[in-house]
Parts: sequence; structure tokens; C-alpha cells
Amino acid sequence: NNKAVATPTRTKEILQNYGFAFKKSLGQNFLIDVNILKNIIRHAGIDKEAGAIEIGPGIGALTEQLGQHADKVVAFEIDQRLLPILNETLAPYENIHIINEDILKSDIRKVIGAHFSKEQPVRVVANLPYYITTPILMKLLMDRLPIDSITVMIQKEVADRMAAEPNSKSYGSLSIAVQYYTTAEIVMNVPKTVFMPQPNVDSSVLHLRMRAEPPVQVKDEDFFFEVVKASFGQRRKTLMNNLARHFSGKMNKQAIQEHLNEVGIDPKRRGESLSMEEFALLADILYKK
Ligand code: SAM
Repeated sequence: NNKAVATPTRTKEILQNYGFAFKKSLGQNFLIDVNILKNIIRHAGIDKEAGAIEIGPGIGALTEQLGQHADKVVAFEIDQRLLPILNETLAPYENIHIINEDILKSDIRKVIGAHFSKEQPVRVVANLPYYITTPILMKLLMDRLPIDSITVMIQKEVADRMAAEPNSKSYGSLSIAVQYYTTAEIVMNVPKTVFMPQPNVDSSVLHLRMRAEPPVQVKDEDFFFEVVKASFGQRRKTLMNNLARHFSGKMNKQAIQEHLNEVGIDPKRRGESLSMEEFALLADILYKK
């Protein structure tokens, strides 16, 4: 069969042949538009030098395209029912390896070491299961894996938050968490109509480029993220009030106010107006006080 998997007719045919019923609980919304897939692959910078990691191949819509454009593809799929289907749809591709594991429980570092050469760039490309978008991305980032970039289809609202700049409505602790490890850019907005079944939310493709070094140097990373979260605690409250509330019992209001003044941050500002650099200054002055 030489028709791409990601076409409405072929997808329907495959699902019917195997009597496959979608599991909503696994976030199964399959792509049925080859052009969208080719654009994702282009934005991901996939070429014959690159290794690709896919999360959730489904029936192989994106996997098939990755097989054609990348040197090698490793795909993690949790749903055992999809294995015989993938076995058929991806049969022509010897450079694709499927691993039947929950991505959140897998040892990705080990898989990278086993399947890719040290010289080749490894890029993650996926149409993610939306119910675990943030845990998957935070795992990929915090494990500091030897990967080059992550290009993922996710719900638009989450993509907006991850790529947001200060003083915007979507800016929050998730923006800082993601941008501490990567430069984030939304490269495409995607209509619901390219999925089967159609999801309830709008989607975007987010491109994350791993940074060699974090953009700010802080004394303690955990404490930095604690200060960021505390600062966004209640969006309508001032920075001062959010910090005082979070550190009550540990630091008094006056001390916090003095430290804010020391680093030149007006206590009346709101968390959403602070840049990553300002959060770093703030975290370091409050650290171990
Ligand atoms: N890549 C396919 C496509 O674009 O048509 C399918 C994408 S679908 C949105 C998400 C896929 O992730 C499903 O195949 C689902 O079974 C799989 N999945 C869900 N949870 C997973 C997990 N924890 N680990 C690995 N795969 C998972």
C-alpha cells in the first residue's frame, strides 16, 4: 500500500481492519494530513544526519514520515493494541524501532545511548498525548538529556504559556520553567480538522531548542523555581504579598521589602512583570535569609 498513513481514507481503512477503538484516556487523536506532518518535520530540522525520538506513534502517521526523512527513529508507544498495526504500516522502514513503554517511566538516556551515535543530533518530534503534555516535556527538560531540540504538537493554550513573554496573559511559572532550559517558539497553529477524532481544543506546534547553558546563573535552582512559583501565587496580588504569604514564618514582610529594594524591584509590581533575570536576582538575594 503506497498511500501515506496520514490520509483520511487510509487511516479509516487501518482502524477498520484492526477493529481499533480510540482510547480517549490515552489522548488518541491521530493526524490525517500529510502536509502538516511535512511542516512539522521541516520545523524540527529533521534530515538524514538526525536521530529522531517520537512519543506516541499511534498508527504511524508521523513515524512513517520520520522514517523517510531521518537517519533513525525510535518511538515510544504505551498502547499494546497498536503494535501489530505499526508492524504493518512501518514494515518498509528498517530504520524505525518501536518501544512498548510508558514514556514517563522509560529510561530515555539509556535508549539514546543504545540507538543513536554520539556524533548525530537527536531531536524529539511528536504529536503528544494532551493529558500528559507538561509532565512529558518537563521530564525531557529536567533530565538534561543529550538532545538538540523538541518539536511537539500540543494544545494551543499550553504552547502559549510555555512560549510566553513577561507582561502577557499567558506568562507564568511554566514559561520560566521551559525557557530556563530552552528557547521556545510557536511555529504553527493547527486546526482541529486535521485530527481523527477531532480534539476539543485548538493545537499548536511548539519548537524548543535546548540551551547549552541556562540564561541565568542562580545559587540554587530549586529555590529559584520556588520563588518563581510563589511570585505567581495569586495573580492579582502584588509580588510583595505573594512572597510574604509564601515565606510567612520564615521571613517577615519588612525583610522581604528590603531585599526587593536592594535588587531594585518595586514590591508593588506583579509577578507577571518580572523577567527571568529579575527572578534570578530576587531568588539569590532571598536565598538562605
Ligand atoms: N503520532 C500519532 C499521530 O500523530 O497520528 C498519534 C498521536 S496521539 C495524539 C498520542 C499517542 O500517544 C497515542 O498513540 C497514545 O496511545 C500514545 N500515548 C499516550 N500516553 C502515552 C505514554 N504515557 N507513553 C507513550 N505513549 C503514549
